[in-house]
Amino acid sequence: MRIVALMCIYNAQGLIYNSLTAVAPAVDEIRIYDGRYVEYPCTCGRDHDNSCDHTVEEVEQFERDYDGHPPVTYIKVPAMSEIEKRNAMFRGAEGDLAFVIDDDELLIGKPDPLRTFAEKEDKFAYIDFLFPDAGHGTGAVIPLARLFRVQKNIRYEKAYFRLVDDDGLVVDMKADNVRIPDGIRTRNRYYLPPTTFITSLYKYRGRGRNEAAIAYNNRIGPRDWY
Ligand SMILES: [Zn+2]
Repeated sequence: MRIVALMCIYNAQGLIYNSLTAVAPAVDEIRIYDGRYVEYPCTCGRDHDNSCDHTVEEVEQFERDYDGHPPVTYIKVPAMSEIEKRNAMFRGAEGDLAFVIDDDELLIGKPDPLRTFAEKEDKFAYIDFLFPDAGHGTGAVIPLARLFRVQKNIRYEKAYFRLVDDDGLVVDMKADNVRIPDGIRTRNRYYLPPTTFITSLYKYRGRGRNEAAIAYNNRIGPRDWY
């Protein structure tokens, strides 16, 4: 079964190269959805729907640097709400396993567990997500539902933490996380092992490459890529 990365982006020139580098070994296709959330005006002050920085050039640079990268499709979508955009991304991946990741996130660790999920029955998998002040302020790792079997019209319902399909509720992450004490796994969900996780780079959002991104590239550069 094919795994498709659904990458939600906007004005991501400082981060997208690194995010693409991180996710590429784990998936069979990358679909990039470039579109502003209508709730937020662009910081440039002009009214437009798609990235106004050098995001496109960074994607092209990634494609030049990494031979054998999975196919990358760059899709410009009109400005819409976050939930509308994320649901439009699901519709684009119909029939596949979808791995949802944003431009300011890095997939870290082993790519194989994503393939393992393909053999399971579960509708989705949790993956550990690390960011400063995580776990509702406790600093703990929180699991996020990010890997999905795209079937039965799976979609976000009103909020980014609640997913439903034609059979009803798939997961309410907020309710789940309240019930999950640190490090204790619950049943009925597939968990990717902690050797695979997502870390957030949102702090490094900016118009240029930054120290952390350069250090990351130096450690896992094209020559070490598999
Ligand atoms: Zn702009």
